[in-house]
Amino acid sequence: MNLKKNDSFVVTIEDLSDDGWGIGRLEGYIWFIKDTVIGDVAEASVMKMKKSYGFARLVKILRPSPERVEPACPAARRCGGCQLQSMSYKEQLRFKENKVFNNLVRIGGLDNLVRVGEEDSAGEEGPENTARFLPIMGMDNPWRYRNKAQFPFGTDKEGRIVAGFYAGHTHEIIPQEDCLLGVEENQVILGIIKEFMERYHIRAYDEQRHEGLVRHGLIRKGFCTGELMVCLVINGRELPKADRLVTELRTVKGMTSISYSINTEKTNVIMGKEIVPLWGPQYITDYIGDIKYRISPISFYQVNPVQTEKLYKTALDYAGLTGSETVWDLYCGIGTISLFLARRAKRVFGVEIVPQAIEDARQNAAVNGLDNTEFFVGKAEEVLPREYEDNHIRADVIVVDPPRKGCDAKCLETIVKMAPERVVYVSCDSATLARDLKYLRDGGYEVKKVRCCDMFGWGVHVETVVLLSKRKPDNIIEVKVELDELDATTAETKAAYPEIKE
Ligand code: SAH
Repeated sequence: MNLKKNDSFVVTIEDLSDDGWGIGRLEGYIWFIKDTVIGDVAEASVMKMKKSYGFARLVKILRPSPERVEPACPAARRCGGCQLQSMSYKEQLRFKENKVFNNLVRIGGLDNLVRVGEEDSAGEEGPENTARFLPIMGMDNPWRYRNKAQFPFGTDKEGRIVAGFYAGHTHEIIPQEDCLLGVEENQVILGIIKEFMERYHIRAYDEQRHEGLVRHGLIRKGFCTGELMVCLVINGRELPKADRLVTELRTVKGMTSISYSINTEKTNVIMGKEIVPLWGPQYITDYIGDIKYRISPISFYQVNPVQTEKLYKTALDYAGLTGSETVWDLYCGIGTISLFLARRAKRVFGVEIVPQAIEDARQNAAVNGLDNTEFFVGKAEEVLPREYEDNHIRADVIVVDPPRKGCDAKCLETIVKMAPERVVYVSCDSATLARDLKYLRDGGYEVKKVRCCDMFGWGVHVETVVLLSKRKPDNIIEVKVELDELDATTAETKAAYPEIKE
């Protein structure tokens, strides 16, 4: 490529990288250009060049993509939260679906994958030897879907308290109190906290100097119950005038739980280890489907409850439970999927590495009266082989929902040995999903259905749920064995009873 730093060139954007940068090709050389969308013709200038690819800065959009939209959020380009604010929602869904489809074909070798419509989703059997790729489940309204927000506090050049977001890949705070992905109450609550700090001269935390008090404001809302939680993260053990803050915050409709978290360490970790209650219970309640969850400031809980319900209902549907099955839910977190499954299975076992999450899972099982569940703390790749080899456990269905790196080989190996009828794979990374599907297919499973679900509109990530079934032994062989046996019996019988005639 005959270009050097700061040279400009024109390119058409054909694809997006995993972190949302536009990708264009020039004489076989690949360019990554931020703030572009598929279909743009852009002028860009060279930032950095490697052997086969380079990074360039957007200079000007020469011809905008028909799918380009004006970002709704004024901080879209600086904030690190959303990568796809310039792309229509419809195009985002198309992009995500294509990414998953292509990874499954290219990396997973799923050459029998066929796209089908919604109406083809029922039943397990598709056309002969095909894996069905169903339409992505998008959001009805891709705004204000997040039930959790964590705003850093800081001080601007004029000495005023600000709350907002970190600029992408930095720790600079951009004042922005109304994130359009978050609930409307966030802005009201942040206003109350800022006013409280100004009035009582309580300083925001300064990361460089490691001084000042208020670090972050955590706000959570139960979408079904309307309950609100506020937890202030502070660099100290006490919050002066806390009772005044409580009085003000209680004026917000739905306020249920107010607390602070002590974090005096020099760290990027937001929450401290100790939570001090100020008012109300230390948790809020919410529902996904008809399962009730208690959410504390430190609990893991899916951030998009509406889409989570769609995703887990699909996983439940794919599990095909009749009430008599033993199910293992690996990487179970707080047991969200396990509890969904428990209503329709004989027994559900969950495995999760984080002890606190398992405590939550057990508590949530009790709150819902689901006593057919059992949870193990540990690595899936250690607990499952151990339970299989030492205690001879079995499974009719295994569900996995691993982190981005996918399943450990030992875990997949044990699943294949245990030979459940069905495996339901919930994934947040289609590349590792594709790799793991390849292993399971080589181990005797076939992919029946694949369906994506968008949980993070305006961001690049997408969730996928896959149904795999144990490959049936060849029918012809089965019949032949039966006939052979029948013949043998008949011959024996004939020998024993000579009076039997043809
Ligand atoms: N299904 C869960 C969330 C899954 S996210 C829910 O809906 O709540 C992936 C989970 O896997 C996280 O909770 C993470 O802590 C856990 N995890 C990561 N590595 C693991 C391992 N090796 N074994 C078991 N769990 C693991």
